[in-house]
Amino acid sequence: MPHDPITDAALDLLRETDAEVADIIAAEGARQATTIELIASENHVSPAVMHAMGTCLTNKYAEGYPGARYYGGCVHHDQVERVAQDRAKQLFNCNFANVQPHSGASANAAAFLALLKPGDTFASLVLSDGGHLSHGLKVNMSGKWFNPVHYPLHYDENHPQFEQIDYDAVKRVCREHQPKLLMCGYSAYPRVIDFKLMREAADECGAIMLADIAHIAGLVATGVHPSPFPHAHVVTTTTHKTLRGPRGGLILSDDEEMSKKINRAIFPGMQGGPLMHIIAAKAVAFGEALRPDFKAYCQQIVANARALAAGLSEHGYRITSGGTDNHVMLVDLRARDQNLTGADAERWLEAAGIITNKNGVPNDPRPPRVTSGLRLGSPATTTRGFNETDMHQVAAWIDEVLAAGLTGEDQLARTSQRVRASVREMCDQHPLP
Ligand SMILES: *Cc1c(COP(=O)(O)O)cnc(C)c1O
Repeated sequence: MPHDPITDAALDLLRETDAEVADIIAAEGARQATTIELIASENHVSPAVMHAMGTCLTNKYAEGYPGARYYGGCVHHDQVERVAQDRAKQLFNCNFANVQPHSGASANAAAFLALLKPGDTFASLVLSDGGHLSHGLKVNMSGKWFNPVHYPLHYDENHPQFEQIDYDAVKRVCREHQPKLLMCGYSAYPRVIDFKLMREAADECGAIMLADIAHIAGLVATGVHPSPFPHAHVVTTTTHKTLRGPRGGLILSDDEEMSKKINRAIFPGMQGGPLMHIIAAKAVAFGEALRPDFKAYCQQIVANARALAAGLSEHGYRITSGGTDNHVMLVDLRARDQNLTGADAERWLEAAGIITNKNGVPNDPRPPRVTSGLRLGSPATTTRGFNETDMHQVAAWIDEVLAAGLTGEDQLARTSQRVRASVREMCDQHPLP
């Protein structure tokens, strides 16, 4: 069921002209309202952010930047983009913001275009250790046209920082390969990133330091995770994960020269007309994130992630690196049962109304389509008002469903039906924003 009257009314209007699409959107609204969203990169935006997107700003071409457009009639587009820029700078306490990247991957591609030449070496964490595909995966532009080298985690389970970044090795990799750029910031990394140590490693080889805070942007904006500034030369991010804005990207810097290169790389380097309706929604989301209640929200994200991790540990699951400092955790399912796979767990939990994604754990022997892990996160459930007690309940349901799945089809069907009903009830108690 649509969760606010304007969305409701808009869908009714749409249904008059296109019932087919309206019905699909309504069904998706119902799915989101009645399931527990544990995908760490997802969130539920406010009605204000939602409605800023569905506006007449989409009708306009505004190639260029405020005050320097290639089309007439951009007066309001200049205003709204300046608001978005100013709020982004205030939020992250930096001097330059480009709010035009269409997505996080586009922001990273623009940073590469601005700062590297084809064939240049850069250092990053590999996808299978928690990195992102835009950080040098062979099938991605970053891996095809550039030369990625990867720094490791601590893989020795007796090491006190087991499965955390090996900062000495980062320096070693930098000395050995002399990368032009050092990337940090990840998609499946549950620990605090030491940006200062990353900058030291970058400085030792004269590399540019790029921090991709796509996952933790909300936590960074509120001081719940340390800021990459003043260490990073350039910061890229998405706006739709913990930051709870529209789907999009953002590039930040304190360095005027870098920011000029970034601006030219976004336009005309990579993109044409900016998505001005999305930029308006970014401005709205940044405004929300500047308010004190957003800090409380981000603190609760971390408390909830810790509660979920603790609950799962009590049920015999292993949380990689021994826990979480942020919104995300990687659950090693093999500790509960050697036969459990990420693919099965994702499918079984979805039938019970708990939405997750399978994810490899470091040194996972299983292929990416199977995996031994689940990546779970708390941003979306925290938006709905779940607290630590609720997260312990969610951990218990996860274990009930997975235990039933291991027992057999009949048991799984019975258990997932029962848990599905309880999940619906909890969702009803915590409606979407
Ligand atoms: C999600 C993510 C991105 C990509 O964002 P898209 O908007 O999906 O392109 C980039 N970097 C990291 C670290 C991410 O987690």
